[in-house]
Order: sequence, then structure tokens, then C-alpha cells
Amino acid sequence: MEKAYFPMKYYNLTQGYLNSSTHQGTYALDTAGKDTGKDDIYAPFSCKVTKKYVKAGHAYTVWLTSLDKVLCANGQEEYLTMMIVHPEDIANLQIGQTFKQGELVCHEGKTGNASGNHLHMELGLGTCGWHKNSQGVYMIDNAVKCEEYLFLKKDTIVKNDIYKGKKYSFKIEDDNTNPIEPSSNNLGIKYTTTDLNERTGPGTNYSIVNSLSANTAVRVYEINGSWARIETGMWVSNNFLTSSKPSKHYKSMEVYNCQSLNVRQNYNNGKILKSIPVNTVVSVLEEKNGWTKIGQNAWVYAQYLK
Ligand SMILES: [Zn+2]
Repeated sequence: MEKAYFPMKYYNLTQGYLNSSTHQGTYALDTAGKDTGKDDIYAPFSCKVTKKYVKAGHAYTVWLTSLDKVLCANGQEEYLTMMIVHPEDIANLQIGQTFKQGELVCHEGKTGNASGNHLHMELGLGTCGWHKNSQGVYMIDNAVKCEEYLFLKKDTIVKNDIYKGKKYSFKIEDDNTNPIEPSSNNLGIKYTTTDLNERTGPGTNYSIVNSLSANTAVRVYEINGSWARIETGMWVSNNFLTSSKPSKHYKSMEVYNCQSLNVRQNYNNGKILKSIPVNTVVSVLEEKNGWTKIGQNAWVYAQYLK
């Protein structure tokens, strides 16, 4: 799954939200690139153009909606829509035009009431729409805070992240959120002794992305303090893992003969909850009609286990 990225190479905050007229009632952030020229604005995720507003004398605006759910910095997996304001070079963009993540979309500019070249950025949760506020200024629907949803890439340069004493820091992309190649060295198979949260990092301050049922088999790749990193790339408390096979646990099996396997809420093609990569070890809790239960309300098609 793609991560949602901050769309420029430099993060150079020039205005935060809630404390000025054009940012009133929004979570808009202004960022001014490296402050010389008109810096590139890249697709924050693979996306399509869902709206553009190009009118002389006004702030040009383009809306980009993700083509799929993306992994957000707070651990959520959601569709996102980004609103980009002030560019000068969006007249030729077409509604429905798609961009791959990281592709150049346009450049920062100063159309409308802008004193210098910058990007005014708003982010909305979902494939959301837009509205005009009482001043006639476009704003995104379902606004969320950019700094809670977008990752900074490791090579993004932070020039400034404070405005009027308030810090707007983004989470820096961390390799720990990438799934691990199952072939890499591992520390063996363990079993959860209770229902257990998977988190994006080794501590309770990290976001929860999934919950494992008791007696689930996991493959441990790394230990950090009292935390263990498992095959999904996420972390669980090592205090609730044991090497001894629980009595309730029937057997361990591995996903094989496919790239990844859908985990469903019920057997017989229930709602898809997530997919797990080949070689993932699962606990078989129950078998029914060609389906295997691997956790509470978690079923996979049995023919892809061995
Ligand atoms: Zn602005």
C-alpha cells in the first residue's frame, strides 16, 4: 500500500491554520519550498484530478483524489483528497487525468491573493468534495490535519515547521512501516497469549493498525526492548508472545502458491479485511467448507495454505 507523502522536496512553513482570515476554519498549511523560484509539487499518492478551478484574478486550485486507499502517517488506511492552491500551470490539467505517486503535477505559484510563490495545501479524508466558505473561498470537505496524515520522505528538507509559536511537524517515513521480506532472517515462530495490537512502532505511543487474536502464530524478525517486530513489519508486545504452542492452537501453516492472500471476515467470500503476503505463518483455529479460520472473524481460502 502506498504511503501518503508531503508533496514537495522542502517543507518550509509560512502559515499555519486557524489563525488568519484565509486559513480560518480550515487545516490549511502554506509552505514555500526552498524560497527561490517555483518549486515542484509532486503527486502525494497515485491520484486523479477530481476538480480544478482556473479563473483570472483568483487563486487557481486543483483537487487530487487518491486512486486507492493509502497508508496515512497516523496508521489509518483511507482514501485522501488533496487541495493545491496558487499554482499557475494547471490550466491544461484534465478532470480524470491520473498521476503516479511522485510524478510532477504542477509548480507552486502566487495566483490569487498570494504575496509570494507558495503551496497552500488542504487535505480531506476520503474521496471528498469541497465547498465555499462565507468569504467565497474554496475549502475542502472532511478536512484533516496534513501533519497527521502525510509522511515526510527521509530526504525531505525541513526549513521551517513553526508558525506563530505552534509547531506543525510531520512524521518522517520510517522503514519499519514497510512489510518485511519473508525470506529475510527471522527469530522464529511465536504465539500470542492474548488478543494483541499490532502497532507501527515499538511502543504504546505508536498507532494501532491491526489486532491479532490470541493463539495466533507470528514470525518474529527483531526484538527492541519489550517489543517484537513481526512479518507484517508492525510491532507487538513481546510480553504476550510465547514460544510454546498453545493447546488451543491446532497447527501452523504458511501462505503459498500466491502473491498474497485475502483475509475475510467470514468464510464463503466474506468482506475482505486485509491481505497477507506469501510465506506468512498463520494459526489454524478452525476449518470449514474449504476455508480456514486464522483469527477471530478472520478466514482465508484453505487451498493457499500448506
Ligand atoms: Zn494559504
